[in-house]
Amino acid sequence: MSKTVNTDPSCMDDFDPNSVRVQQALARIDETIGTIEGFESVAIRSALGRTLAMDVLSPINVPSHTNSAMDGYAVRSQDLPQSDTGTLTVVGTAFAGHPLEQAIGPGQCARIMTGAMMPEGADTVIMQEHVEREDDRVTVDARHQPGQNVRQVGEDLSVGQIVLHSGRRIIPADLGLLASLGVAEVRVMRRPRVAFFSTGDELRSIGQPLASGQIYDSNRYTLFGMLTELGVEIMDMGVIPDDREQIEQAFRYAAENADAFITTGGVSVGEADYVKETLDRLGKVDFWKIAMKPGRPLAFGEVKGAYFFGLPGNPVSSMVTFYQFVLPALKRLMGQTDVEPVRIPVRCASSLKKRAGRMEYQRGILETSEDGSMVVRSTGHQGSHILSSMSEANCFIVLPLENDGVKPGDVVEVQPFYGLI
Ligand code: AMP
Ligand code: MG
Repeated sequence: MSKTVNTDPSCMDDFDPNSVRVQQALARIDETIGTIEGFESVAIRSALGRTLAMDVLSPINVPSHTNSAMDGYAVRSQDLPQSDTGTLTVVGTAFAGHPLEQAIGPGQCARIMTGAMMPEGADTVIMQEHVEREDDRVTVDARHQPGQNVRQVGEDLSVGQIVLHSGRRIIPADLGLLASLGVAEVRVMRRPRVAFFSTGDELRSIGQPLASGQIYDSNRYTLFGMLTELGVEIMDMGVIPDDREQIEQAFRYAAENADAFITTGGVSVGEADYVKETLDRLGKVDFWKIAMKPGRPLAFGEVKGAYFFGLPGNPVSSMVTFYQFVLPALKRLMGQTDVEPVRIPVRCASSLKKRAGRMEYQRGILETSEDGSMVVRSTGHQGSHILSSMSEANCFIVLPLENDGVKPGDVVEVQPFYGLI
């Protein structure tokens, strides 16, 4: 777009009328992706990070018995003094796992430990620090409420209640929850198999010497990391040179052997970019110029029953497009229902350069400021080839299309890396 011939200020931005907006691309991907077929039953430890393929109903009440929340004395609320103090006789002790087989009668109480079943007749627990004990007598004052410090049957979960919903990614707390219900196995979705390869004549793998103009392939390593964290089965197909035949072969192999596949490089309109023409022959793929930075070119579609994502070659662009487009898509494929990234508004400590017209994902460091509030600052150089900016960063600073720069103190949205997956 030439600034010299156009005086319309809206043309002073980065907007390209042929570009697709991030939201449109996301919506298109979202309507195309279906959930993978196939389940398996696994022991609960193996279910960590997997997608639950059933609603888990509680087979029992949790807690299964009324029990004490404190170390103290189990008493009858009728025996609590209204004023002054009262004295009760200790008739026994209830331990966790060892109930007191004796009912508490008028004027009596029992020593009780945390988690121990409430003895019959008692309905209230007084903390041990709040009584005075002498031999088998305790003196209680008037500050106590009937029913205090007691955990009721089914207070956490009741029989038949849905504890975990289908479509949930299982986290460590869920394993404990399932164990607390005595559930040994759950049904989870099959893990999708995701293949990936890099394209480019300039790329070498670790261990090979670099001739002039050659670089090491880093995208396969970042992809390995991101896909491994996501919990899919991965198939690394290596580097494929910019050669029509080899690229076509790789596409065919990936489509036949994986549920989805990802390539990096070769989606821009360069002379060596065979990806587009190969795909036009093999499947139904859209090539988009996305109104975003970094990561403008992106290809998405279906090739012989597998979903295909063609990401740009620049190392930062490939990571950004993976997190923004591929990650939510693969989560849907895995059967997960919660695929939206977390976004948090925070104050920005840096000034950020940006022109209106493209959505930007700048790399930021989210930290606690001196006054205790969260602030984000820029990692500095934002070039799409500066992979160290991703390494240093702990969040994306997400700047909307219309934003035309950020001053220190402005509020911006960040997308933390931790919790992205
Ligand atoms: P392309 O999208 O193929 O035009 O590549 C854009 C830029 O990213 C070029 O500078 C490539 O050398 C670089 N690049 C492409 N693939 C990779 C890769 N796998 N690892 C590191 N850099 C890459
Ligand atoms: Mg290339």
